[in-house]
Amino acid sequence: MPTIVTYAEHRDGRLRRPSLEAVSAAKRLAEPLKATVQAVVIGSEGEAFIGDLGAHGADVVHLFDQPELAAYATEPYARAVAQVVSGEKPSAVLVPFTAMGKDLAPRVAARVGAGLVSDCIALEVKEGRLQARRPMYAGKAYATVRWEGEPQMATLRPNVFPVGSPDAARKPEVRKGTVDTTARAKVAALHATAAGKLELTEAQIIVSGGRGLKGPENFHLVESLAAAMGAAVGASRAVVDAGWVDHQYQVGQTGKTVSPSLYVACGISGAIQHLAGMSSSKYIVAINKDADAPIFKVANYGVVGDLFELLPKLTEAAKAYFAGKR
Ligand SMILES: Cc1cc2nc3c(=O)[nH]c(=O)nc-3n(C[C@H](O)[C@H](O)[C@H](O)COP(=O)(O)OP(=O)(O)OC[C@H]3O[C@@H](n4cnc5c(N)ncnc54)[C@H](O)[C@@H]3O)c2cc1C
Repeated sequence: MPTIVTYAEHRDGRLRRPSLEAVSAAKRLAEPLKATVQAVVIGSEGEAFIGDLGAHGADVVHLFDQPELAAYATEPYARAVAQVVSGEKPSAVLVPFTAMGKDLAPRVAARVGAGLVSDCIALEVKEGRLQARRPMYAGKAYATVRWEGEPQMATLRPNVFPVGSPDAARKPEVRKGTVDTTARAKVAALHATAAGKLELTEAQIIVSGGRGLKGPENFHLVESLAAAMGAAVGASRAVVDAGWVDHQYQVGQTGKTVSPSLYVACGISGAIQHLAGMSSSKYIVAINKDADAPIFKVANYGVVGDLFELLPKLTEAAKAYFAGKR
């Protein structure tokens, strides 16, 4: 029977949403292919996620829970996923296009000799094989890609593939594996810089600020609107380069790629390098005083106006709207 393998990433004791998106995508693709879905989960906490992975579509969960695998390290993690792929000979392997997935997937692909299509925004079955769609040239063009041979390996852009409804009655078979845990480079310690803040790549709403804010002293206008909407905060490179906010907030070609349900761009012109990181958002709202700003070409809703007048009013409106809803 054909098989689709997915990699399930977790952090701080919870399965990351892109992992559920990958296993849900695998389940949808498995139907026309009449395939089984197998998830790989690595780390000492891995056992806690078996139920969730099963409920979202995994028929089998491969668990590597040796204590040495508690922290991510490229080599043993790649070895474990490659071990499953070599053993199961799946027709497809799906990995979330997260920071970890970007590091892990090419290593696994090289080990198993697979063709890897990265940052996919759509996957479908055509004549029994997968076909992917992915952005190219910073989002200026889209490529339709098919694979030669198997496994057909892809990384999936977070927040693009929907999470299916869970079915708690689905109980996956668990296969425990062990792997050589030696690594030439290991994570010695993690220093979180934004504890408690929403992770940009997983946020459903993002409010981003650009040079139109004039100076770091005004960035609180974006932060207040974001707080009122339960959103994550983003920024253009211009304000990151100017030192107003840290690079972790940068959206774009040399920052993070995001696909929230709602992206609110405040005082951002819409340079192609910024659009590369956010144009796959479901709804884009732009606030800019220049009616000819390129951001309006990708915006679903545009407000031509002064953000210093608009943002405080929007924040009050958002507070009133969300009051009692959360
Ligand atoms: C190799 C390379 C990689 C890059 N990577 C990235 C990247 O990852 N992310 C990224 O963002 N950029 C990136 N850039 C930079 C990019 O080209 C732009 O310079 C940058 O995005 C501009 O930022 P901005 O829109 O905030 O500033 P600006 O282009 O200066 O735009 C400011 C906007 O604010 C508006 N405005 C001004 N005052 C107000 C007001 N009172 N009310 C409302 N609107 C107002 C203006 O009309 C203007 O449209 C990259 C560039 C290069 C060359």
